[in-house]
Amino acid sequence: MTAETFEFQVEARQLLQMMVHSIYSNKDVFLRELVSNASDALDKLRIEALRDDTLGADVSDLHIEIEADKDARTLTIRDNGIGMSRDEVVGLIGTIAKSGTAEFLKKLKEARQAGDPDKAAAAEGLIGQFGVGFYSAFMVADEVTLLTRRAGESTGTRWTSTGEGTYTIETVDDAPQGTSVTLRLKPVDNDNRLFDYTSPWKIKEIVKRYSDFITWPIRLITTAGEQKDQDGEKDGGKSEPETINSRQALWARPRSEVSDEEYHELYKHISHDWTDPLETIRIHAEGTFEYQALLFFPAQPPRDLFSSGRRGVQLYVKRVLIMEECEELVPPYLRFVKGVVDAQDLSLNISREILQQDRHIQMMRRRLAKKVLSTIKEMRVKQPEKYTAFWREFGPVVKEGLLGDFENRDAILAACSFATTHDAEKTATLQEYVERMKEGQEHIFYMTGPSRTAVENSPHMEAYRDKGLEVLVLTDPVDELWVDAVPEFQGKKLRSIAKGEAELGTEEEKEQAKAEREQKQQEYGDLLEWLGKQLGDEVKEVRLSSRLTTSPACVVSDADDATPGLRNMLRAMGQ
Ligand code: ADP
Ligand code: MG
Repeated sequence: MTAETFEFQVEARQLLQMMVHSIYSNKDVFLRELVSNASDALDKLRIEALRDDTLGADVSDLHIEIEADKDARTLTIRDNGIGMSRDEVVGLIGTIAKSGTAEFLKKLKEARQAGDPDKAAAAEGLIGQFGVGFYSAFMVADEVTLLTRRAGESTGTRWTSTGEGTYTIETVDDAPQGTSVTLRLKPVDNDNRLFDYTSPWKIKEIVKRYSDFITWPIRLITTAGEQKDQDGEKDGGKSEPETINSRQALWARPRSEVSDEEYHELYKHISHDWTDPLETIRIHAEGTFEYQALLFFPAQPPRDLFSSGRRGVQLYVKRVLIMEECEELVPPYLRFVKGVVDAQDLSLNISREILQQDRHIQMMRRRLAKKVLSTIKEMRVKQPEKYTAFWREFGPVVKEGLLGDFENRDAILAACSFATTHDAEKTATLQEYVERMKEGQEHIFYMTGPSRTAVENSPHMEAYRDKGLEVLVLTDPVDELWVDAVPEFQGKKLRSIAKGEAELGTEEEKEQAKAEREQKQQEYGDLLEWLGKQLGDEVKEVRLSSRLTTSPACVVSDADDATPGLRNMLRAMGQ
């Protein structure tokens, strides 16, 4: 079969360029990425074989092999996992489907052009955030060859590229099942942290550091090449395979024996993220239903947080991964949580339908949600800076929980904080708001809007500012929904200052204001009628207001009407 040449999709090409001219200083991670992909492929094959016994794949000795050839200066990472079809190779390796790539590349380019070390470090952080996976091979190799055959298919595919714009693909008749990735290594350049990646010592060090917990055996084979053996004969043979990872599940080891770095590497493997997690949660449940869980909060939101994408945590049964994205274990509003749950007593081939009803799954889901929420709350109290960073990114998602998870409403509210007119720098909890409420104040006042400035400059705000009343400044689209779903907090109703008749002051003041207003309404009756006619269908009603002190007029909604921001959001959702 002749090889066909293809061009990389534009964004893929740009990313590759960056890898080739690597700006990422820690090049060792290429091996972590390739081992991680191999491990995923083995997981996938086992899960598929579990569900489909006609697959006809040999799953008796699933493993990863790293073969280093010192003389040829090649490194091969091989697995006998699920493999890829030809279309998959083109789709998965030749293009980058990840959303936000263009924007990421733009930021990175700017950072690089600026040419100062801070910006460069920021750029590195961006790559970390993006996670380039397979392409990281081009940090250390000037040519990469991937040979793969998908389980259940008869022909394989060879993909080759130097990372410079094009790749070739050819069909191969006798490829072993699974995938092998062969790197033609760049010359060693210790100054640029391009180490000798054929050195068994170096390989072991990297695997130990980043991939020790991988449950599949990682076997190292070194090719002796030109070296002479004891009899002076040339020994072109390979060394005996040596398993170089300890294969211990981190969650099964005593906490005191596991370092933070080990937890972080597990997180990176699971989440395909390159940055350390913000928070690690360990749960060890004993009793009638035993399970362990390791949960992580990412430091950065994944790009698909508000669209479809990887969801849920990995579900293991007695150390065996049975589902990669078990959505049933975490409620949708905690979808940013990554991690592992390992249960003692679940059926190995449990189906999605059964999962939803399984009482153990429901029990774990409840416990995990509570634990995650209490962790956020604790972070708020004990590590305010960390919380602030977390809340900025994930608050809008967590608040979605107020719409549906009534059982955990209090726990969610305890994790929540909101921008407020009380302090421009600091957010406040509802609890703090209530404690600061003025004598006689019956409501928790809030205003929703597109931005803090918009809310603060709103004419609705004037009277509240004058009276020294605190108003929550709610600027996330979801805010418009949860304020209706949460009717009150500690007996205090939430009230929008932009809707209908806001009640300020005491009963007496209110009575007086009402009388004044009625009088003025008569005085200005003609003007109001005229205005109403002029504005026609644009407004429902024109009325006098007592709450403006400096602005001449403002638009208000009826208590039941959607606010302008929500109308926009609903319109965006096609409603
Ligand atoms: P990610 O792992 O985050 O999806 P990668 O760039 O590492 O991104 O890999 C892209 C895709 O290529 C993977 O999602 C997987 O579908 C496929 N792939 C990569 N390596 C392998 C492998 N060894 N076996 C099977 N599929 C693989
Ligand atoms: Mg990967």
